[in-house]
Amino acid sequence: MKASVVFINGEVITVDNNDSVKQAIAISGNKIMAVGSTPEIEHLIDSNTKIIDLDGKTLMPGIIDAHLHLVLYGVFQLNFSCKDPAIQSIEDVLSSLAERAKTTPKGQWIRAWGYNETLIKEQRYPTLQELDSISTDHPVVITRTCGHIGLVNSYALKLAQIDEHTPNPQGGIIEKDSSGRLTGRLIEGSYMQFNEVARYTPEELEQAMQIAQQHFFENGITSVHEAGTFDQESFRLMQQASNRGDLKIRIYAVIGAINDCKEFTTNVMKSGVVTGTGNDFFKVGPAKLFTDGSSTGPTIATREGYTSDPNNNGILYYSEEELYEVLGEAHKLGYQVTVHAQGDKGIEMYLNVIERALKESPRDDHRHRIEHCGVTPPDLQERIKQLQMIPIPNPPFPYEFGEIYIHNYGERTDYMYPARDFIDQGIICAAGSDAPVTTVNPFIGLHTAVNREVETGTPFGQQQKTSLLEAIRLYTYNAAYASFDEQIKGSLEVGKLADLIVLDRSILSTKSSNIKDIGIELTMIDGEIVYEQSLSVI
Ligand SMILES: [Zn+2]
Repeated sequence: MKASVVFINGEVITVDNNDSVKQAIAISGNKIMAVGSTPEIEHLIDSNTKIIDLDGKTLMPGIIDAHLHLVLYGVFQLNFSCKDPAIQSIEDVLSSLAERAKTTPKGQWIRAWGYNETLIKEQRYPTLQELDSISTDHPVVITRTCGHIGLVNSYALKLAQIDEHTPNPQGGIIEKDSSGRLTGRLIEGSYMQFNEVARYTPEELEQAMQIAQQHFFENGITSVHEAGTFDQESFRLMQQASNRGDLKIRIYAVIGAINDCKEFTTNVMKSGVVTGTGNDFFKVGPAKLFTDGSSTGPTIATREGYTSDPNNNGILYYSEEELYEVLGEAHKLGYQVTVHAQGDKGIEMYLNVIERALKESPRDDHRHRIEHCGVTPPDLQERIKQLQMIPIPNPPFPYEFGEIYIHNYGERTDYMYPARDFIDQGIICAAGSDAPVTTVNPFIGLHTAVNREVETGTPFGQQQKTSLLEAIRLYTYNAAYASFDEQIKGSLEVGKLADLIVLDRSILSTKSSNIKDIGIELTMIDGEIVYEQSLSVI
């Protein structure tokens, strides 16, 4: 049998058990046929084989982003981005959105995302009056960069039936000023519920998924762990798009949602659909809940008060008992389980839940996960190891948000997303971008895992640096492990799925300070080239 495609003369990072680096690889159909030296692989060429000369560039397993939000990422691309470098002040945001309102039919949504008050000249949020100045004929919502806080105008508050007398929902705050007037700021649970009001149409959701997938291919991502869509509708549309072949990216979809996570998760559990259901393109993931808030909000639940505000130690969504009620049950029923947990208090509470669940119903190879695993000091690391759990830290977070973290959490940043400690402890951990919270570009993640520096150059918990090959493993093999898929993907070995990427240079000879600049030349999924920039095809 001959190969359908071969890549020769390259730097093939296999991520096998020995971290071997080879020169060439052969693909037959949707599987890897052989990995070896160029002469070895050249034996597998016949007249129908497509030959790609890598010219010394890196070929590696496709990136598996172990935590991002495909649908959310996509819909945000339809909206105005406050991350645009031209946006420097509140005035810039207001005038850009007012401009949008002029061409948007009355009553339709004006949406923006990526607002970060710490990067804005005024260093604050817009007031409700300012939000109303955008339009009184359109509902307006500006989502903060963390995705946990929304700024909405009076029209939108009215649609959501929120007034001064509306009580705070569980795990959420409808913010009021000192005289009891609404500020337009919806925090955590109240914002998540608000999403139900600010719904997208099915057509918008379909379009959003296509845009997201295209961006992911361009960034070398071949599989994603979808960490939560809005609700049942977007979850269903995502599966149908995958079934039709419109979504070619492989998806491991957590059982969880942004709008009302607990309701969504318990409903899916009641329906009897379990972790692992599906195929190589769409598979049902772990049952998920939130324990606490956003790392930049800051709303994460910490054991000690924030460095910036010692009286504040964040938001807990549920009590330990409530968390156990859902996740203890999920464990007992055989689901993989996970939570969003950023602060040490949130993580600790979840570990208590898992410890109790395992004591009551012991289970091997459960692979229970912890999404983010932000502030994780040594005592919690020890428990994570004992319980054999998989943390999913976000290497790129400190690159964009490091200064905010240092301000709010002080020395605790030494143990934020502590990949080095996890590896040294023998804890298997995988990496995710949490896009659209931060960039989906995995090379920013690899860069920051290796350099542990804020974009500004400020060092950030430098004792947590990993080697480049270790960082690559977090985004490939270990991410496959976190979805029970390490037998079929995550490394370049004979018989595994042909999911791979070609970089625009040799990553092993790239200076560590330049890893962030690496680009993608080709992305292959299931033996099919889904993105190609420019390569010399012989
Ligand atoms: Zn997330």
